Amino acid sequence: MNYNHIVIRYAELALKGKNRSTFERRLQENIKIALKSFPNVKIERTFGRMFIQLNGEDHTQIADKLSKIFGIHSFSLAVKVENDLDKIREGALRAVHEILEGKKTFKVSAKRANKGFPISSSTLNYEVGSFILRNTEQLKVDVHNPDIEVKVEVRETDTYITCAVYKGSGGLPVGTGGKVVLMLSGGIDSPVAGYLAMKRGVKIEAIHFHSPPYTNERAKQKVIDLTKVLTEYGGKIRLHVVPFTKTQMEIHKVIPANYTMTIMRRMMLRISEEIASRQKAFAIANGESLGQVASQTLHSMHTINEVTNMPIIRPLVTMDKLEVIDVAKKIGTYDLSILPYEDCCTIFLPPETKTKPQREKANKFEEKLNIEALVNEAVENIEVIDIIPGKKVEEQFDELL
Ligand code: ATP
Ligand code: MG
Repeated sequence: MNYNHIVIRYAELALKGKNRSTFERRLQENIKIALKSFPNVKIERTFGRMFIQLNGEDHTQIADKLSKIFGIHSFSLAVKVENDLDKIREGALRAVHEILEGKKTFKVSAKRANKGFPISSSTLNYEVGSFILRNTEQLKVDVHNPDIEVKVEVRETDTYITCAVYKGSGGLPVGTGGKVVLMLSGGIDSPVAGYLAMKRGVKIEAIHFHSPPYTNERAKQKVIDLTKVLTEYGGKIRLHVVPFTKTQMEIHKVIPANYTMTIMRRMMLRISEEIASRQKAFAIANGESLGQVASQTLHSMHTINEVTNMPIIRPLVTMDKLEVIDVAKKIGTYDLSILPYEDCCTIFLPPETKTKPQREKANKFEEKLNIEALVNEAVENIEVIDIIPGKKVEEQFDELL
């Protein structure tokens, strides 16, 4: 293994003016947490870049983890050498050897951040390029469309040589944008909504409405497993499992069938808002997409939204189902989401739901419910599960004992 470093380039951080160092610190912390299982790596931060010293750790596994961290624009595996022409030439050759297979052409792009280094960029291009030509068999120079671009960056004390750029996830570092609660069902949409919310830098706490005995332990386990996948992108996530049976039974008993879905959603929002306030979250995120089903028409959203004035973040609002499925597959939640366990909504679902429910009617029907008591009882009986990346939930319980 010839690489000894990884160079990380930031995503939108350049745009953030004086908040920049906060963002960089948070990103560094998130990277540190994600790489906890590689004890030998060291992370260094300099202006505009971060460097990971591999110290012998597996670069493929580390690259996989980095590709999931928000706030990284791109990163490259790098060979770091002293600022010395011979060492630079040899380092460049080693870097090229790592990815030589099947490649025919290359070019060298040298850059001096350190203008005190006595060799100009164009001379470096020539010196390094001719050394690679002499010491490889199949490679030719192509300055326009090379298979390999050897980047040589001479910095203050050391030179970094990189050959391949990997795309990062973009976005902003999780934790720089405050906190939202995510309404997390076991479906395809809400985990994707959580992923996209985290991409914009917010930390999430998940809320799942659970209706035992109508929904079983496996449905709950499915949500725990989905949350666990989301922790790969956002670090530790708290999951609130809300007992929802009583509310649903009451709704079922007193609300006309074609408004049960609307009222159930309003109750979910009220409970979510209460949890958000207690957890110091400033918005509620969910997986709604405009027009997807009866409860997500514009009229439904208007009537359901009436019960809260917290911002509701709907990352999927304009996405088609197929686009959502693509993201779900990419982030690793799809296969879990399609497991066939009932969720609390499908069980109490009436044969028909109003696609244009009205606020006045919803308010009138709700007079038959003791809303405050139902919200309080649900919130007081929440089961809280903290899900930590890379740990089994059972192990966490053991640690708490
Ligand atoms: P999903 O695939 O996320 O379940 P969906 O298309 O099936 O979405 P609905 O079932 O109408 O849509 O739910 C809309 C949104 O309401 C979900 O995306 C989710 O954010 C929230 N939600 C629905 N059921 C639950 C639940 N049991 N617990 C928490 N949130 C829920
Ligand atoms: Mg659903």
